[in-house]
Amino acid sequence: MVILKRVNDIEEYLNLKRVKGNQIGFVPTMGALHSGHISLVERCKADGGVSVCSIFVNPTQFNDKSDLEKYPRSVEGDIELLLQAGCDVLFLPDVSDIYPDGEAAMPSWDFGYLETVLEGATRPGHFRGVGQVVARLLQVVQPDRLYLGSKDYQQCMVIKKLAELTGMKELRVVICPTQREPDGLAMSSRNRRLSEGQRSVAGLIYQCLVSIQAKQGSAPFAVVQKECDDLMRAKGFVPEYIALAHADTLELLEDYKPGTPMVALIAAKIGEIRLIDNLVV
Ligand code: AMP
Repeated sequence: MVILKRVNDIEEYLNLKRVKGNQIGFVPTMGALHSGHISLVERCKADGGVSVCSIFVNPTQFNDKSDLEKYPRSVEGDIELLLQAGCDVLFLPDVSDIYPDGEAAMPSWDFGYLETVLEGATRPGHFRGVGQVVARLLQVVQPDRLYLGSKDYQQCMVIKKLAELTGMKELRVVICPTQREPDGLAMSSRNRRLSEGQRSVAGLIYQCLVSIQAKQGSAPFAVVQKECDDLMRAKGFVPEYIALAHADTLELLEDYKPGTPMVALIAAKIGEIRLIDNLVV
């Protein structure tokens, strides 16, 4: 695996690969890698061409600065996992490489409605930051295929919209399934921060999503939502939202709508740690 830190170096390296006829697959991450990230790298490799993974903890997408400071970092272990997965290139830039003229000088895109609901509403400015960094990374890596995890459902929608807004018509966005722990907890870098006690109840988020899915047709969503809220609070969670939405538009639904593609989404804090998950219903 080639490890490149400077924008010029990776541009030069990938240009050489491109002129030799290689396609480029790209997996952007913030590091503290786990099997969820590695499943994206594996899919990327299986699709052929050169596999590129980036690790960059993007300051502009953290609306909560203490979340940024406490975000887990483990580059050595990450390199080991990427080597095992057979990743071809690791891009490991500094903030000054990604934002050479400062963060404020970067263009930002308007994602409209997506910025006003769920993650957009609870994390003001978050998707602007995601848009900035992904646009910059795409400009540098110029991939043919981009691999994203459906664990970040709304982020996938935002990045697809970014590709539209920036005219990247040729870019193929590949959405990969959420990898879970045996108790259903979606793998996440943030899980590393859970105490033993918090970890022992964290699978409840997925259980709630499954119950939202299972109770379709037998109970109104408001009733299931309240049950989930009560259960989660009883175990020490503070839910930020327990929502049902149109799977294609993320329009919020007050109740199940038979025949409509739907997704259930939950964000909740346990202690200081904020977890999100979703399930197509
Ligand atoms: P992050 O490092 O959290 O920014 O995530 C980088 C990429 O990995 C994003 O596209 C995520 O959606 C994806 N990802 C994170 N967790 C998982 C998971 N449990 N399963 C599959 N993909 C994931």
